[in-house]
Amino acid sequence: MTQPIAIGIDFGGTNFKVALVAEDGRVLVKSSAPTDTTATPESVIAQVANLAESLLDDGHIARENVVGAGLGSPGPLDFDRGMVIHSVNLPTWENVPVRDLLAKRLNLPVALDNDANAAAFGEYWAGAGKGGGDFVMLTLGTGLGAGVVLGGKILHGHYDNAGELGHMIVVPGGLPCGCGQRGCVEQYAAAATVARRVHRAIEEGEDSLLSPMVKEGVSIDAKTVVEAMGKGDAVCKRIWDEACTYLAIACVNIQHAFNPESIVLGGGMAEAGDVVLDPVRSHFARNTWRLESDRPHIRLAALGYDAGVIGAAGLAWNAVAEVRPRDSLTP
Ligand SMILES: [Zn+2]
Repeated sequence: MTQPIAIGIDFGGTNFKVALVAEDGRVLVKSSAPTDTTATPESVIAQVANLAESLLDDGHIARENVVGAGLGSPGPLDFDRGMVIHSVNLPTWENVPVRDLLAKRLNLPVALDNDANAAAFGEYWAGAGKGGGDFVMLTLGTGLGAGVVLGGKILHGHYDNAGELGHMIVVPGGLPCGCGQRGCVEQYAAAATVARRVHRAIEEGEDSLLSPMVKEGVSIDAKTVVEAMGKGDAVCKRIWDEACTYLAIACVNIQHAFNPESIVLGGGMAEAGDVVLDPVRSHFARNTWRLESDRPHIRLAALGYDAGVIGAAGLAWNAVAEVRPRDSLTP
């Protein structure tokens, strides 16, 4: 294979994924492996680099055709120094200069961003935001991850923490959040928190089609909630609709903060498709201001679980485009 590629790495507390990605965002090959959370950071970085190198070798890709690597990592990060400050899922990681360690190991330039931002950049570059303008992604999974892309660049903010939109407060004095605030949208509108709220409502005595599951200790996820709702379950319907209302309010706030062309919904809750998109759009229309000309398009994500690796590679491609003209790349 002689076309130029970038290496995308989506680094997580459970698994890490590596993909070789073309300049148009196509994934040529990908692989993943479990993250050894007990190993030293240096040894984990060596494992990641080994997987990337084995993909290059298997694809017979010459090193001169690799333009760089991008890494999406759990944060918080220090962007200036390319460091993971610490990570909840990686207890041995404290002030790890991950960008430079990986760059030295791969002998390539490395672009670093946090995992939610990398996924947002992937959707912006090659997925639901492709060809559009300013863009916000909300990933409705275990928590509510987010990323903001303005003028083609991920917004970091002065203190490196811009785009933590899951911690927008939508209910003053509401449910406690792991971040120390109360009433964060993440506590109402993410796949795991919707399931948790249904579970709690049943435990508190509400009658639901899922009551037998809760009594038997079977865990509930967002998919179970959507299925029960399809069978007419009132508890699931109410909590899902509340989630969509809070999500819509978050979208109104995002509209006023960034005025993006689109807001894209991804993650486990977005797998419900129109069951999440339709109510969010209608609650949004009911809650936003009268002016209609500045409303963002609300869409579903397109890349699924590959958004992170594709976006990480996109960061590497972006860095290349900034330092040398496109036509200088080896075709
Ligand atoms: Zn919070």
